[in-house]
Amino acid sequence: QAKEQGRDGWRFFSEEIHEQARRRLDITNGLRQAIERNEFQVRFQPILCAQSQIIRGAELLLRWFQSGGEVSPAHFIPIAEMSGSIVPIGKWVFHQACLAERQWRELFGVEAPYVSVNVSARQLNDESLVEEFRRLLDETGADPNRIVLELTETSLMSDVIFNLSVLNQLARLGLRVAVDDFGTGYSSLAQLLRLPLSKLKIDREFVDGLDKRHDSRAIVHAVCSMARAMNLQVIAEGVENASQFGYLRDLGCDYVQGFYFHRPLPPEEFLALLHESSAAGRLASSDDLYAL
Ligand code: C2E
Ligand code: MG
Ligand code: MG
Ligand code: MG
Repeated sequence: QAKEQGRDGWRFFSEEIHEQARRRLDITNGLRQAIERNEFQVRFQPILCAQSQIIRGAELLLRWFQSGGEVSPAHFIPIAEMSGSIVPIGKWVFHQACLAERQWRELFGVEAPYVSVNVSARQLNDESLVEEFRRLLDETGADPNRIVLELTETSLMSDVIFNLSVLNQLARLGLRVAVDDFGTGYSSLAQLLRLPLSKLKIDREFVDGLDKRHDSRAIVHAVCSMARAMNLQVIAEGVENASQFGYLRDLGCDYVQGFYFHRPLPPEEFLALLHESSAAGRLASSDDLYAL
């Protein structure tokens, strides 16, 4: 009897695996058509100056609405990376970032926030990337100085020498580079700092530990002092409460982003927020001119 149960257990297990594989395949196929089917949307999550709480930037986050419902980027991005569809999807995303930058600058001038966009390592291996980004910048009239490319620490470290050359080309276009999820990889700081970086984004894990663990505070403090010495700006992501925010401000973090301030917003809602902030005199004033 035990043997039979074991066998049923095995059959159940293998059906489960089969189901998972089919679901992955559905996603892989679905991603290939998602752009032409208009299934992608973007969200913008405000990035605020820690001192003044003025909105200085926004991170563009991708959303996919498939016939079956919304699929989380944490789930579909890794699949898009494996199958290669991240390359066309990444271009679509960058185009959206250019359009947003242009629109915000037309509406708000020097007060307009910068736009930050996620780029995966797989995209850096695509030899048409630099040319395509250049073309999209030209075509849209977006200001590359106000567009930040977020690359995770892990993906940057996967092939530093190669990435260094691509990132230098992107930096020459005027684009800025931020290290995303900083602190989660096991990188050699010396290697990482050879890259043309403007910003470090401290991973949510450390922000989460701020009001619970002493070592998180020490780490955030060390990152902020190092960044200041290196002329890099520090952004903390995943700020969820006032106590975390208090620590970050006191530890010298430049920018904050998280549900405590705003969730990722649909474009119309983000624009409404900008209009509201501008009317209240709560956007960057010219003396506060961004040093991106
Ligand atoms: P990420 O780049 O580190 O983005 C931050 C994630 O944290 C977002 O999740 C955001 O919604 C979430 N977040 C922000 N504030 C808080 C908070 O206070 N608490 C909590 N619990 N979460 C917060 P999202 O939108 O689900 O994206 C997940 C990841 O998917 C991103 O992590 C990024 O790695 C990837 N991703 C999203 N959009 C794109 C894209 O257009 N291209 C690429 N290559 N990757 C993307
Ligand atoms: Mg990011
Ligand atoms: Mg991140
Ligand atoms: Mg993250």
